[in-house]
Amino acid sequence: MPPQPRPGILATEPYQGGEKELPGFSRVARLASNENPFGASPRALEAYETAREGLNRYPDGHSAALRTAIGEVHGLDPARIVCGAGSDELIGLLTEAYAGPGDRVVYSRHGFLMYPIFATTAGATPVAAPEANLTTDVDAILARVTPETRAVFLANPNNPTGSYLSRASLERLHAGLPEDVLLVIDAAYAEYATAGDYSDGAELAARSGNVVVTRTFSKIYGLAGLRIGWAYGPPGIVDVLNRVRMPFNVATPAQEAGAAAVQDRDFVARSVAHNTQWRAWFRERAQAAGIEALPSEANFVLLRFADEDAAERALSTFKAGGVLVRQMGKYGLPDCLRVSIGGSEDMHMAADALDAFAGQPG
Ligand code: PMP
Repeated sequence: MPPQPRPGILATEPYQGGEKELPGFSRVARLASNENPFGASPRALEAYETAREGLNRYPDGHSAALRTAIGEVHGLDPARIVCGAGSDELIGLLTEAYAGPGDRVVYSRHGFLMYPIFATTAGATPVAAPEANLTTDVDAILARVTPETRAVFLANPNNPTGSYLSRASLERLHAGLPEDVLLVIDAAYAEYATAGDYSDGAELAARSGNVVVTRTFSKIYGLAGLRIGWAYGPPGIVDVLNRVRMPFNVATPAQEAGAAAVQDRDFVARSVAHNTQWRAWFRERAQAAGIEALPSEANFVLLRFADEDAAERALSTFKAGGVLVRQMGKYGLPDCLRVSIGGSEDMHMAADALDAFAGQPG
């Protein structure tokens, strides 16, 4: 018999990203992966280029300049920040470091797909807390916490629903958890949230021993291809992450581009303004076409159709119009499609597809 991996590993399916190609179209609206339609900040691209010089040298294993830049912009102590190859890496490492066979990891039913995948590969049991109205239910999460629970994962805002938990709800969730349960607040879409009572959780992480916040450069900074994420937490958790991560986990061009990107606040402001405007515009167009579009605090909108068949038909209509979006069957939402906010031309293509769908005989 060939070597066998630990049981949890073959129990997971490989993650599949959004589609990238649509043959036969001169212009494709790529709205399947929540990427920044503006690309990356010119300052980040310039810094990336300059990093060519030192590629024969290992990167700074502690991403010191990048952590300093992040700390300055966010008003956080760089010593409490760890950088990773995307926030996925940090979320995976947190799962593995804190949960293993016999342990439970709790997440919200329609939360980010990687939480149950990482829990299963770590040999732990993922436990899905039901949601009320496609929104995280704090009481349902707390009700599923047992002595075997090692961690709770929460995306805020959540992918793919776009819903969010207010600062007060985060506090209530944290207050209801035992001190020895890790609370991971995944704020990958934090910059896009416009609700006044939204919090990325950093203030909670600053004063709690069991809360860690993860953030990413893949969304607002348009650097998904470079794989940069970071975590902010109490010294004990930061220390654990520094022990388990790879020694040189963030490549030099990524560190350089990331540090420049975080300082380009104009680029961030423009990206947020564009997203806020087109997110509202697209929801209105969907609603005008008679399609339910959920409220969103992120850079995408979730569309809910009458049933799976209708969602399939809508997906085909999008494709026929040169628009790639994502069906949410893997998230337990086969009747939903997630549409990322793209450039203005992309959004017009997407809205035209909605009108075409609405005009079809049901
Ligand atoms: N968390 C959430 C909620 C996400 O949607 C994503 C990206 N799909 C990630 C984390 C991972 O992002 P990255 O690894 O690119 O930082």
